[in-house]
Amino acid sequence: MKNILLLGATGSIGDSVLNVIRQNKSTLNLFGIAVGKNIKKTESIIKTFLPKHIFVDDVKAYDEISSFHPDKNILNSDQELLNLISDDKVDIVISAIVGFAGLKASLMAVNAGKTVLIANKESIVAAGDILMPLARSKGSIIIPIDSEHNAIFQCLPEDKTTKDVDKITITASGGPFINIPLSKLSDISPKDALKHPNWEMGFKVSIDSATLVNKCLELIEARYLFDLNEKFFDLVIHPQSIVHSIVTYKDGSSISQMSNPNMEVPIANALGDSSKVPIEYSKLDFNNLNLSFQEFPSDRSKLQNLAREICNTGGSSGLIFNAANEIAVEYFLKKELKFSQIYDVIYRTFDLMPLSNPQDIETLNELNNEARIKAKKVIKSIT
Ligand code: NDP
Repeated sequence: MKNILLLGATGSIGDSVLNVIRQNKSTLNLFGIAVGKNIKKTESIIKTFLPKHIFVDDVKAYDEISSFHPDKNILNSDQELLNLISDDKVDIVISAIVGFAGLKASLMAVNAGKTVLIANKESIVAAGDILMPLARSKGSIIIPIDSEHNAIFQCLPEDKTTKDVDKITITASGGPFINIPLSKLSDISPKDALKHPNWEMGFKVSIDSATLVNKCLELIEARYLFDLNEKFFDLVIHPQSIVHSIVTYKDGSSISQMSNPNMEVPIANALGDSSKVPIEYSKLDFNNLNLSFQEFPSDRSKLQNLAREICNTGGSSGLIFNAANEIAVEYFLKKELKFSQIYDVIYRTFDLMPLSNPQDIETLNELNNEARIKAKKVIKSIT
């Protein structure tokens, strides 16, 4: 039996993980969860999966959930979260809190030497220079569950070495506005931007998908996860979201991973070891499968170039990019920023912040706050 600690249990990735656990109750146990403030969903998870330990970040929600469950271990402080993550009984930590808010727990899990299944790409983008070396020194195994990175992980050899790799192609669905030029997107509403053609996801990642910022975050994520120069990675649009990424080897062969777009597939894969974790999934019908690929849109090349620059620069550059984007997405969802202005907020905030090399979580938090304040000032100046 594997004991799972699911951080971000009330989210979209949380739902997918719970579906995988539900189908594998004899081998997977939900040991604990961490949530933000969704009381109703937390209650439903407690009732269905009986986790013993529940971390609730929001104080009001914590008070309410504690009052319902005097018998359970309901937690709220950083120290309690650290104790829970470090508990010897935890076999796997799933990092699926959205945004920079997930970094604290990702660092705790890596520092505790845990096996970490990571969906929270923002952790890696903002703190890859700290997180990855820490994982190596603590013997923490990081397994990506972002579908593209999980696909790359599956296409690499058993020992995950990349010495024979010539190229890695990261696929992107293109989001809901595929083939619509950026110049025509300025008045897009949040409702339209949230309508992803292939995936059902949380709000933030859905908007990131629509802007294609998600693919740039993923490029930076991949550079850190696989410890390869950005030059190894190509971004390509693949509207069907069936081929989740492709690894091309020096002998000319390309290996890809395919499945219908459903996050349960990479999650089940990452939870498996020598034996697979079985799930009910919709099968690919290869008789009627049409796959197409097209170039990453040239009107987003400034964005891609910035992401490539960040891959090469490291330090605080990813953190600034991520913080500016998080604020821009928040204001876009509140209808206080136009879709096309999300890019302006990213570029201008990036230009305003000097680059540095943060070494600890305190400095990362300070820089994140600073970048968010700068991004808000940029928004004020352009709206
Ligand atoms: P959601 O918005 O659906 O869920 C976010 C989760 O994070 C919720 O459980 C929320 O809790 C929790 N949360 C937010 N802030 C805190 C906090 N301070 N402390 C504890 N918990 C917190 O996001 P997704 O599930 O879509 O995405 C999660 C991560 O996975 C993101 O980094 C995303 O980029 C990545 N990802 C998502 C994919 C998807 O298909 N959804 C695909 C690939 C990657 P509550 O709701 O209780 O407030």
